[in-house]
Amino acid sequence: MSRAVFEFKKTPVATGATELQWKDWHWQMRTSLKSLNDFQAFFKLHDSEVSAFDGIDNTFNVRVTQYYATLADQRFSEDPIRKILMPHKLEKVTGLQQMLDPLGEKKNNPTARVIHRYSDRCLLLITDVCSVYCRFCTRKHFTGQEQAFLKQDELENSIQYIKNHPGIREVILSGGDPLTVSDEQLDRVLTRLREIPSVEIIRIGTRMPVVCPQRITPELVKVLRKHKPVFVMTHFNHPRELTYESAEGLERLVDHGVPVFNQMVMLNGVNNHETIVQALSRRLLYLRVKPYYMFQCDPSEGTDHLRNSIEDSLEIQSRLWGHLSGLAMPHYSIDIPNGGGKAYKVPNFEISKNENVRTFKGWDGVQEDYISPPAEQIKKPLDWELYLDEWLRIQNSKK
Ligand SMILES: *Cc1c(COP(=O)(O)O)cnc(C)c1O
Ligand code: SF4
Repeated sequence: MSRAVFEFKKTPVATGATELQWKDWHWQMRTSLKSLNDFQAFFKLHDSEVSAFDGIDNTFNVRVTQYYATLADQRFSEDPIRKILMPHKLEKVTGLQQMLDPLGEKKNNPTARVIHRYSDRCLLLITDVCSVYCRFCTRKHFTGQEQAFLKQDELENSIQYIKNHPGIREVILSGGDPLTVSDEQLDRVLTRLREIPSVEIIRIGTRMPVVCPQRITPELVKVLRKHKPVFVMTHFNHPRELTYESAEGLERLVDHGVPVFNQMVMLNGVNNHETIVQALSRRLLYLRVKPYYMFQCDPSEGTDHLRNSIEDSLEIQSRLWGHLSGLAMPHYSIDIPNGGGKAYKVPNFEISKNENVRTFKGWDGVQEDYISPPAEQIKKPLDWELYLDEWLRIQNSKK
């Protein structure tokens, strides 16, 4: 592994575990912290944190791998990583905007486990299990509901749906966390998807490289490679999550030809500072992981205290602009609540517009016009019709 520029630190093995157990993802899953007692053995809990556990199972499941718990501060409740994993009493308070299904997924759910919102791609929720239940999760309507791996008929119906909609060219495995299932189960789903000729790209959205990097085994990577092109979308939110173990997992993926992208979520008091976003993005890029999205946190139930304001997120974006390589810069995007889809936001550089002349002021103050050729001079390429069928296939894909 390359270790020249950044230091990725080894995570200490928790008390009572052997080195061998620590490296075994099944052990990490089996021994994850789930109850107040488990947490008290790991953390010095404050009274208000203890009371947050009262009835929390009715709100949103609690679960953390010992590996990930080790990354959090044991005493300080305001610690960023601790905020991600520790239940908070405000989760039970009705706040500003509370939606069980902020992405309006139930409206775009043609068959159990499939969410088809955009024409050329759909989600396939293969499990609702995660190894860590992030307190800001946007899919609380599905995640952690004890439904586990999709049933045979759910798989058959999903495959049939995707087959019947050849406009779907990309399938995104999601959940829950798709990498909590076994290699055999994953291989089975990927094999079925690869039997559908219209499916070109498969994506896997997973937090396992962050919260249980032991999962990225040579055997898993072999399965992903077998079904290429498979892209892995990770979810790192803070540079402290990039440990030796996670760096090793990420490099294993990339070294075996699996492209890796990261989607971060802006979180209040966790990562809403340009120094944090820059450090996270540069370290990821160094590990050949492309920072892809910086999401505004969705107004999921019980997340008001974790949500950043759009104003602050925009401020952070504009401070990074011009100072952070385009390769390292994630797209800032807001999901319009209730299933409106993603809305990108970029700093506004255009200060005026007059017919074919637009005036811009750049990130460090340079101001100049861009003059477009007149409309009558604009011609389309001669051969565009060669690609028309492919285009039309997508236009009708949601029917
Ligand atoms: C975000 C999302 C996708 C993927 O969108 P990209 O912009 O391609 O990453 C697909 N389907 C749904 C329902 C989504 O919310
Ligand atoms: S890993 Fe993803 S799906 Fe699971 S709880 Fe965290 S944010 Fe939600």
